[in-house]
Amino acid sequence: MALVLERKELICSKNFIDGQWLAASSGERFAVTDPATGERITEVADSGPDDARAATDAAARALPAWRDLLPKERAAILHRWNALMLAHQDDLGALISLEQGKPLAEGRGEVAYGASYVAWFADEATRIYGDIIPQQQRGKRMTAVKEPIGIVAAITPWNFPLAMIARKIAPALAAGCTVVAKPAEDTPLTALALALLAHEAGVPAGVLNVITASREKAVPAVGNWLEDARVRKITFTGSTPVGKYLARESANTLKKLSLELGGNAPFIVFDDADLDAAVAGLLAAKFRNGGQTCVCPNRVYVQSGVYAKFAELLSQRVGQLKVAPASDPSAQIGPMINSRALDKIARHVDDATSHGARILAGGKRLPELGPNYFAPTVISDATADMLLCSEETFGPVVPLFRFEDEAEAVKAANDTPFGLASYFYSQDVKRIDRVSRALEAGIVGVNEGALASEAAPFGGVKESGYGREGSKYGLDDYLSIKYVCQGGLD
Ligand code: NAP
Repeated sequence: MALVLERKELICSKNFIDGQWLAASSGERFAVTDPATGERITEVADSGPDDARAATDAAARALPAWRDLLPKERAAILHRWNALMLAHQDDLGALISLEQGKPLAEGRGEVAYGASYVAWFADEATRIYGDIIPQQQRGKRMTAVKEPIGIVAAITPWNFPLAMIARKIAPALAAGCTVVAKPAEDTPLTALALALLAHEAGVPAGVLNVITASREKAVPAVGNWLEDARVRKITFTGSTPVGKYLARESANTLKKLSLELGGNAPFIVFDDADLDAAVAGLLAAKFRNGGQTCVCPNRVYVQSGVYAKFAELLSQRVGQLKVAPASDPSAQIGPMINSRALDKIARHVDDATSHGARILAGGKRLPELGPNYFAPTVISDATADMLLCSEETFGPVVPLFRFEDEAEAVKAANDTPFGLASYFYSQDVKRIDRVSRALEAGIVGVNEGALASEAAPFGGVKESGYGREGSKYGLDDYLSIKYVCQGGLD
């Protein structure tokens, strides 16, 4: 089954600036390829600083009118955008699978997931409350009001081409901000399709602007936003080194930052866990998007009493996972995003085996399927000196570490600069309380592997970044608080 879109014009190839489709000012373009085959899908604009500046100019012009709409007017437009996303769920799902490689069911699921943030923040737009501060002096009234922060630059990764950008644009627009956005080089098409639907939903010209750029051109293009004092906020999802770079480079104009960065999630299975539930939870958390999510368990710690049994149960299930292109409806694991990703996974597996690990399932590339496939892999006897312990593998590889007691597991889980997601399985209520408090992470899954929800605060601690996406807290990152003191009232 080929990945074909019913509405072909959803595949856009130009920048969306000020409500218009524009080529890069240099006229340059770059190719977008299907990771399943390496074949070219189309070409898109390769933007530079001039295009970035044009997007900011448009966002600046659009800001006063957008900010001054009633919240319920912004909400109505966002609800229409949400409805259009859902009406195009099959096409958008196919587009995600085409440029990113995830199985079609996951592509469609991502559309529903991303759209849920749009609906959520449409509603939240109408609940941006301030405070009347209890009177401190006679004749004075003190209030705190929340205002949109201004122009927001959104920079997003390739692993969720729709959800990552939707959950930045939606709160920004709900708050009354305008947006300039740059999706990842590998997956620019879904973001452009979203811009088309936003336009059709009634988002006014200049309120949402999307430019695309190759990796080489992205640095000067985004650099223009980092230097431009009109851009008041950067919201970024991606790797920790790039997040640190953006924080450093935007310091001159002291922008507000939201940084959703890399993870190195621990997944702990205690002796008292329900092992079948733990295996099911690990499969759900680990193999979503072929292991290419920031909340994927990267290190699995299993207590010695259940280590052998857990390894056996898990290897059996992992060995049955179907690896295939997204065009195959039975696919459970698709290709990795590109050859660099594949090389990193292979390097981690080779390093582990050279340090004494054993492969229980998978462990190799699958060139017979296409250029970017890696077999779902289980590795036993993993140890802390292996690369897959200290670095995010970002692929379908489960390393099993053995531990003896709770203190050892918690110490190992926290022994990383990262702190995004963490998971553990136990049926002991006191342990559940102790371990959830002890884990240094923004997100903790207890006897659960699927944690994402638009109603929950998503974000990290330590070098996994700061800021929260989703939930009632998610709008705060796009608002500033103004204190108004009115005197002369006595
Ligand atoms: P990345 O290399 O940091 O890239 C993310 C985005 O930043 C892309 O749009 C990229 O453009 C752009 N970029 C990279 N270097 C830049 C620079 N010097 N100046 C301006 N823009 C730059 O990350 P990735 O490899 O795409 O994504 C994987 C990482 O994202 C993993 O570490 C994962 O854990 C993390 N992630 C975190 C979350 C979360 O919510 N915490 C969610 C998903 C993913 P190009 O594509 O052109 O390089």
